[in-house]
Amino acid sequence: MKIVKSIEELISYRKSVTSKVGFVPTMGALHNGHLSLIKQARIQNDIVILSIFVNPTQFLPNEDFNSYPRKEEADIKIATLAGVDVVFAPDVNEMYSLQEPKVIAPRDIAYILEGKKRPGHFDGVLSVLMKLFHIVKPHNAYFGKKDAQQLFLVQNMVDTYFLPINIVPCDIIRDADGLALSSRNIYLDSKQRAKALSLSVALKNGSQAIMKGEREVVKIEKIMREALKEVEVDYVTVLSRDFKFVEHISIKETLLLIAAYVDNVRLIDNLWI
Ligand code: AMP
Repeated sequence: MKIVKSIEELISYRKSVTSKVGFVPTMGALHNGHLSLIKQARIQNDIVILSIFVNPTQFLPNEDFNSYPRKEEADIKIATLAGVDVVFAPDVNEMYSLQEPKVIAPRDIAYILEGKKRPGHFDGVLSVLMKLFHIVKPHNAYFGKKDAQQLFLVQNMVDTYFLPINIVPCDIIRDADGLALSSRNIYLDSKQRAKALSLSVALKNGSQAIMKGEREVVKIEKIMREALKEVEVDYVTVLSRDFKFVEHISIKETLLLIAAYVDNVRLIDNLWI
């Protein structure tokens, strides 16, 4: 497996590859969620490129950019075992210059939910992905449904700028107890972890209500909130899959989304109905 730090080197490597390239962008601290993206990329492509880049522009000044888990050595071992061909881990200074155009995510979708308390977060996400897409030039790029809003906005950017990239949505990977895997789970002690389980319980309760015939959003959200008494809820939302707020859901078009703090650890989870 190649480890590439320089953008120039990656671009020149990419020019030498004529077969199908799959790309998995990550911020590292790899877990089984990332691995499932890599596995899918491995099956569907000749070459798999994994990027590891903790992107400063998607963190707000008060967020955990400095303390975000960085585990490069372990990540490289995991990537090697998973059959990644190239790990691309560029330096922040090489990725950004002082003055540069940015991708601005559409306000109506990027400033609700994840973007409401994190204004500008998705501008940072899309800007770095635009750079990475141009450097890596993948045929297929793999994104987790766990970050549903991000996935929607990435697809929207690819469509808007006519980027010749197939975006592949990948299912959410959970621990056996239901907790969605996240690099931030390592911040949780055992008591906090027990509280964190309420997110997946709330999603299950919401979906069961829908299966029993409930269609009214207010009622489904209320059922979900009942399971979330031990965490500090940021939002609990039932939406259409195109991120439109609705009063009544239609089955197969619905997303249940939760963001909540367990003490100061912010967790997100969702369920696609
Ligand atoms: P991150 O390193 O957190 O930026 O995540 C990199 C990619 O992995 C994103 O596309 C995430 O949606 C995806 N991902 C993170 N956690 C999970 C999970 N539990 N299941 C599936 N995909 C995930």
